[in-house]
Amino acid sequence: MIKANNPNLKSWVEVPHGSDFPIQNLPFGIFKTKYLSPVAGVAIGDHVLDLVYLHENGFLDGLGLPSGIFNQRFLNDFIALGKKQTREVRERISELLQHDNTELKNNVAAREIALIPMNEVQMLMPVRVPNYTDFYSSEEHATNVGSMFRDPKNALLPNWKHLPVGYHGRPSSIVVSGTPIKRPKGQIKLGDDPPSFASTRKLDFELEVAFITCSETKLGSHVTTSHAEDHIFGFVLFNDWSARDIQTWEYVPLGPFLAKNFGSTVSPWIVTLDALEPFRVKGPDQFPNVLPYLFTEGEKNFDIRLEVLIEPERSQPTTVCRSNFKCMYWNVNQQLAHHTVNGCNIQVGDMYASGTISGPSPGSYGSMLELTWNGQKPLSMPDGSERKFIEDGDTVIMKGYAEKDGVRIGFGECKGKILPAD
Ligand code: MN
Repeated sequence: MIKANNPNLKSWVEVPHGSDFPIQNLPFGIFKTKYLSPVAGVAIGDHVLDLVYLHENGFLDGLGLPSGIFNQRFLNDFIALGKKQTREVRERISELLQHDNTELKNNVAAREIALIPMNEVQMLMPVRVPNYTDFYSSEEHATNVGSMFRDPKNALLPNWKHLPVGYHGRPSSIVVSGTPIKRPKGQIKLGDDPPSFASTRKLDFELEVAFITCSETKLGSHVTTSHAEDHIFGFVLFNDWSARDIQTWEYVPLGPFLAKNFGSTVSPWIVTLDALEPFRVKGPDQFPNVLPYLFTEGEKNFDIRLEVLIEPERSQPTTVCRSNFKCMYWNVNQQLAHHTVNGCNIQVGDMYASGTISGPSPGSYGSMLELTWNGQKPLSMPDGSERKFIEDGDTVIMKGYAEKDGVRIGFGECKGKILPAD
């Protein structure tokens, strides 16, 4: 049992009802303020706890932390310390924030500096991302896409239930929540006409959750399903923006390319795998049986409720999708084991996105492609407008949280606004 996960813990820091960041969460991120260059912090309620200040002033003594470990532009060096040490840091921060602990609580001067109101900080990319992989692990999503573009009777390709399908994505264009995305241009082919060069008319989001690895492995070695979680620090929400018309023309035979690499948006706080322990659930039954290197047993999925909202330029946000991470057919252990079974090495800060997370009902589909069935069934917005895909000026907002025993472990927001093409 991880002590910091105890649902009975209360903090002396006020945590508003419904906050994503109670004392049981303590996600890690990188932030800056008007006065501070980028440093590491932890979210608690409506505040950010400055880890550089805590470390430099002795509040984290005895944990064997290298000097300057939090005074960095990214969390890579911190998470590379390994799960045992980063878990001790989270446990210590939990202690410092508990209502009956007076070390920081009664030190008014230290409190004033260490706790910064969230509305005074700017969140930055939490890690430098050396590699990004996108899986395709939701059976409902793969079935919907297969039905639309191939054959509803054979929607899943023959390999789908034997291996977690994925492709290598582009880390350079992964941006933190709040960064605008410009509508991409590319080759589009309509009907029998030759391809034209134009801005995409089918700009879409993909609702995903990504895990982040915290170790380096050797080229030629592999990670087994039973050890995969030793290599996973935590999770972020992930919007894999997609241009469907560019994708349709370019993706055969090597898969997505310019339809995806113009931008992906992540939420800024890394929710640790440790904080999600209480929310484990069993995944779907897998049939046919998987090959031995993909075998897992027990609760390897996580019950995380997910939501997507569209906020038009001059209107209120409206929810267009509610889904759940527990729907995934392939779990993260299987994804990492499969990724490395050929000897592919992993690196600190790698992001592995789940693939679009669609549930069984139409309101749970994780992309506009599925929600509007490729534009055939437009969504009505409260301002009277319709959406087949995402329009200029729209902001797409993703949210996610796990909840049980009165504890809500949330991710904050993953949002991005679409700007017109040049
Ligand atoms: Mn994707």
